[in-house]
Amino acid sequence: MPLHIETPLIPSRPLSRLTGKDVRLKLEALQPSGSFKLRGIGATCEALARQGKTRFISSSGGNAGIAVAYAGRQLGIPVTVVVPETTTARARELIALEGADIVVHGASWTEANALAESMVDATSAALHPFDNPTTWAGHATMIDEVARAGVVFDSVLLSVGGGGLMSGVVEGLRRNGLGHIPVVAMETFGADSLAQSAAKGERITLDAITSIATSLGAKQVCANAFELTRTHDIRSLVVSDLEAVDACLAFLHDHRVLVEPACGATLAALYRQDPVLAPFQSPLVIVCGGSTATLQQLQDWRAALVAKTA
Ligand SMILES: *Cc1c(COP(=O)(O)O)cnc(C)c1O
Repeated sequence: MPLHIETPLIPSRPLSRLTGKDVRLKLEALQPSGSFKLRGIGATCEALARQGKTRFISSSGGNAGIAVAYAGRQLGIPVTVVVPETTTARARELIALEGADIVVHGASWTEANALAESMVDATSAALHPFDNPTTWAGHATMIDEVARAGVVFDSVLLSVGGGGLMSGVVEGLRRNGLGHIPVVAMETFGADSLAQSAAKGERITLDAITSIATSLGAKQVCANAFELTRTHDIRSLVVSDLEAVDACLAFLHDHRVLVEPACGATLAALYRQDPVLAPFQSPLVIVCGGSTATLQQLQDWRAALVAKTA
C-alpha cells in the first residue's frame, strides 16, 4: 500500500466559467501531508525502509520535510528534520505534529543542509526534496490516476521549484502514452530558476530567492527538469507574488481549499486568463497544495505587497 492517497479529480465550474475552458483540478492539496510531495517522498521512504534504513533525515522546513515526517511516522521509522532559523513557527509546528525531531540550525538552508548531510551514516538516509528518480516515479502516479479515470485533457498546468513535480508529471504522461501533451510551468518572480534557464539555454543559478513562494525557492532546477525544456513541450510562465497570493484567496473562495502561494502561481495563470492558455481547451491543473501558509499569513502578505506596489 502506498503512503499517498488517490486524490479527487474534479471539474472546476468557477474556473471553467471564467476561462471558457473545461478546467479539471487534481487536488493534491488533499494528500494527508498537505501537498503532492507525499507521492514521491512516500515512495522513496518505502524503498529506503526496504533497504533497512532505520532513520530518515530531511533538511526541508517546508512540505518535503512534512512529507518525510508523515512517511516516517506511518512506517515506524524515526525522522530528524534540520531547519534553518528562518523556518516559520507554523512549519515547525506541522513537523512536530508528525512526531519528527526538529533541529534548528543556521541562518539559511545551506547551513541546515550541511548539518543534515553530516548526520547521515550507514543506517540512515537523507531525502532530497526534488532531485531523485524514485521520487519522480512516485509523483508520476498522479497522472496514472487521471489516465485511469479516462479524463481527456490537452495540457497540464503545474508549479516548478526544483523541478521534481514537473519531472514526475512528464514521466507520468510518457508512461501513459501522453508524452505529446504540453506542460505549462509556472513560477514566481524571484524564484524563476526554470524560466531563466529556458530563456538562456543553460541551467542558471539564482543569486537569491526573493519571492514569498518559498516552496518554489530552488536557486537551481535539477538537471532532469532543465533537460525536459529541450525534450518536452514546456511553456514557462512567471507571475508576481501578488498574483500568486490573490489566486490563493480567489481559490479559497471558489473551492474552499487553502493553498500556498507556490500553488497560487499555477492558479494565477487561470485567474489572469493568461494568453499562454489560449491554445488549450481542457487544461489539467495540478493543485499541488502546501500546508505552511495560514489565511492570516496570506492576508498579511497581500497587505504588504499592495503597500509596496502603491
Ligand atoms: C515542493 C513544492 C513545489 C515545487 O515542487 P518541485 O518538485 O520542487 O518543483 C510546488 N508547490 C508546493 C506546494 C510544494 O511543496
